[in-house]
Amino acid sequence: MTRIAVDIDGVLTDHVTYMLEFIRGTILKDVEMTKEDVDSWDTLIGGYSFKTIFEKCLEYDDFLRNMPVIEGAVEGVNRLVKEFHVIIVTARPASTAGETYNWLRKNGFQFHTLLVGNTVDRTLLNIDVLIDDNPHAITGFAMRGGLSIVYSQPWNMRLPPDADEYIEKRRIIRFREWSGITQFIYNRFLDT
Ligand SMILES: [Mg+2]
Repeated sequence: MTRIAVDIDGVLTDHVTYMLEFIRGTILKDVEMTKEDVDSWDTLIGGYSFKTIFEKCLEYDDFLRNMPVIEGAVEGVNRLVKEFHVIIVTARPASTAGETYNWLRKNGFQFHTLLVGNTVDRTLLNIDVLIDDNPHAITGFAMRGGLSIVYSQPWNMRLPPDADEYIEKRRIIRFREWSGITQFIYNRFLDT
């Protein structure tokens, strides 16, 4: 059975828009940035890297609980679960596993496996397809022979130079919405 890994942050939840709102109400009140200003994990927000602030936010249970779901994501993942083995994967710290699982279930996501932790290298998983927003994961997985689906975000508009070859070979394919992703995977892997 075709195995598909799906990232969470930036793919199932619009974590950046939500994080910017969250920090304005809590830890960095003067920040006036929008999602479009965040074009990498190193983007500075109030003097701190995006990554540092996001990891800080993950320590708040209510931050994790209330993350907004990207439009079409639940329907998309649940459609994939019907035909494929679906592994939800996130580099959030392992300490967030419980809240992450609860968030997925509360929002109606179905899946076979959940992998949580920043020691998981998703490009090395035994999978056929990776749906991700991280430029390096997307490129690394395609280089190892997989099919990478890019969920389009401001921080992945430019991919590493190594990606060019795989974009040409259609092993890296970009989508702006979930409906296109599920349809593409159905067409590619099922005789419909
Ligand atoms: Mg992500």
